[in-house]
Amino acid sequence: MVDRIAPESEIDTILVKVASRCNINCSYCYVYHMGDDNWSRLSKFMDSDTLGAMCVSLGQIVSQQEKPFSVVLHGGEPFLLGKTRLKELLHALREVLPELYPISIQTNGILISNEILDICSYYRASVAVSIDGPKAIHDRFRVGHSGEGTFEKVVLGIEILRRHVDAAFLNAGLLAVVDPQSDPVDVYTFFKEMGAPSVDFLYKDGNHDRLPLGKKSLFSLEYGDWMVRLLDVYLSDADPLPIRVLDDMLKVMLGGTVSKEGMGLTDFGIIIIDTDGTVMKNDTLKSSFNGADRFDEPINIKDGTLIPFIHSNDFLDYKRMQRPAHLNCRNCENLDLCGGGMILHRWSESNGFDNPSVYCSDQMYLIDAMQERVKKLISQYV
Ligand code: SF4
Repeated sequence: MVDRIAPESEIDTILVKVASRCNINCSYCYVYHMGDDNWSRLSKFMDSDTLGAMCVSLGQIVSQQEKPFSVVLHGGEPFLLGKTRLKELLHALREVLPELYPISIQTNGILISNEILDICSYYRASVAVSIDGPKAIHDRFRVGHSGEGTFEKVVLGIEILRRHVDAAFLNAGLLAVVDPQSDPVDVYTFFKEMGAPSVDFLYKDGNHDRLPLGKKSLFSLEYGDWMVRLLDVYLSDADPLPIRVLDDMLKVMLGGTVSKEGMGLTDFGIIIIDTDGTVMKNDTLKSSFNGADRFDEPINIKDGTLIPFIHSNDFLDYKRMQRPAHLNCRNCENLDLCGGGMILHRWSESNGFDNPSVYCSDQMYLIDAMQERVKKLISQYV
């Protein structure tokens, strides 16, 4: 009899590094510019043997886990695969993943073409594009290998995506990294005018030893202030653009739950499969120290050991890393919303991950403002 995967060990997302290189060179990228150099030892693309072995393991998870999980194709830049390799990859994945298992592709958008989208559409793989805002904001960090801005090429890719005959399915929204020097009203207005179906915002990588770009101190509020101004423009819009991070926080505040990394108290089950088949922890941990995303005992999908690993205590321990250990977090009235933030944001050389988030002050400021606005809104209707 097949062992079922216990609920506490369940997988929410498998993020697959299908390409280890990127066609652009964003200056804040945790893969290439945060001290980890593992990418340089990897082959450029996942090969067929690794893909085959990965699909066997994914098929086993499908049969052993009650809850569907999602697969995210990531890189580097996944569309560097080109049409033939992309088709081979998606075909192999869909052989083991029924359609209710979402497959999405996170791309910088530059290599989007109608032919690529036709393949994605056929295999029901949606496409999310990274763009940080209007040209001046986007081109500050999202640059090519010669330092040139990439804005026009990305916008062109998004336009092709928006006009595709299957855009209603394919267009999975935009992903932006917050630049606290920008004006959130400009950023919001820009994304709305682009007709984005939704936007998600991420804070920049950083930790207690290396403060995120644009953050002056642990107690400064650059990111919190930016998010509150974004919240205000969003709440005052009668037809708002869905903003996932705000929507999720509001949902938790109103008593709901979300299963999302770095939010709330649900342990999020994410594993990374690197281009050579190595099973890794969340790869954003790379920004903490070289090798922070590796398990002590190396596991490779080609050894057929993923399933025993998911059943192991090592995997449970990794999932539990998301629960904040620091006393301030454990006693914090905002813990059920903040969740202690993303693990990478807790790092310091002296305490490891046993710190509140480097964004703690920003999170508290945002949560206070959100609670105040929600109370005010509710009082208008009762
Ligand atoms: S707001 Fe700060 S103390 Fe509270 S849970 Fe988040 S990081 Fe921890």
